[in-house]
Amino acid sequence: MAGIDVISWQIRPKIQEILSRGADFAGIDRQAAFELMGLELHSRETYALMHTANQMTRQQFGRKGENHFHIGVNIEPCPFNCSFCSLTESAGIFKKRVEFPTPEIIEWAKTAQAEGADALNIMTTGTYALRKLLDLGGHLKASVSTPLVANTRDLSHKEAEQLLEAGFVGAYHAVRLGEGKDTPFVVRKRIDTIKVLKDVGLKWMNCVEPVGPEHDIGEIVDLMFLAREYKATYSGIMRRINFQGSPMEPYGMISELEMARMLAVSRLVMGDIPAAHCSHEPDEISLLAGGNLFFPEVGANPRDGMDQMGGGRGKSIRLTQQIHREMDLDPALPSNCF
Ligand code: SF4
Repeated sequence: MAGIDVISWQIRPKIQEILSRGADFAGIDRQAAFELMGLELHSRETYALMHTANQMTRQQFGRKGENHFHIGVNIEPCPFNCSFCSLTESAGIFKKRVEFPTPEIIEWAKTAQAEGADALNIMTTGTYALRKLLDLGGHLKASVSTPLVANTRDLSHKEAEQLLEAGFVGAYHAVRLGEGKDTPFVVRKRIDTIKVLKDVGLKWMNCVEPVGPEHDIGEIVDLMFLAREYKATYSGIMRRINFQGSPMEPYGMISELEMARMLAVSRLVMGDIPAAHCSHEPDEISLLAGGNLFFPEVGANPRDGMDQMGGGRGKSIRLTQQIHREMDLDPALPSNCF
């Protein structure tokens, strides 16, 4: 049997140079990101890339493992029909509108706070009335001290200011992969909302998502650089999970290891900008590739069917905290994001 060379650890000089530049936290350029995205998955270069991203995260964020608890407050057959989303009319999984009662949402929030959540991400579907989200924000603000982050539709300045007044400190908003093609939304408008968030003083939270095998490197890298340009509080990578019957099923899904390689590239692109770096869904390998932020979840989410609602796919907060501990991160430390 041929021996495995464990003595030398030479990597290609060009990649070595990119990693050294990245490790200085100045960010890498687009060409360098392309090089890294194309690395062979089981090469030393990929492991060196993940090691570099891991070192950066531990140096910048310490041992903090972040858990931002996602609460999907409603379910509806959404008429916007984004093709990667299970909460659509066209998917036909959800036939009726469901709005989880405010007392139940408050209980989820209190439990998450008691269990050490670093933030509460309050997610609505595309047509959920902003007025209701503002009311809910007020109730949550009066009940818990955990920072509130909204995840809702595009916003005007006035609406974003209302979110701030209602008690939200940040908003998750992404230009999704395939935006305008797999969704009916306009990239320009999504970016305008990011600017609005920054203008009014809401923290902008982001992720490059939902990544599938069909997305080309250029499109993925563009979104990494968007996060850097507009100084996201955190960014990272979320892979697309194909629900049963999804129109994206023929494309398949990327593996956790592929997501980890991408996450590491994103970490080097972000440099010293972010306060955390996220991956979704939660897994161990991300925490060796520059990730430190998970989204445990309850209620509705855009990847599941009815049978997995209520803390299914995204895993519960205790489990995500346990993954952090297993990988030598500490979820009990204070958040770096707020
Ligand atoms: S991603 Fe949002 S807007 Fe698009 S279909 Fe799903 S709930 Fe509706």
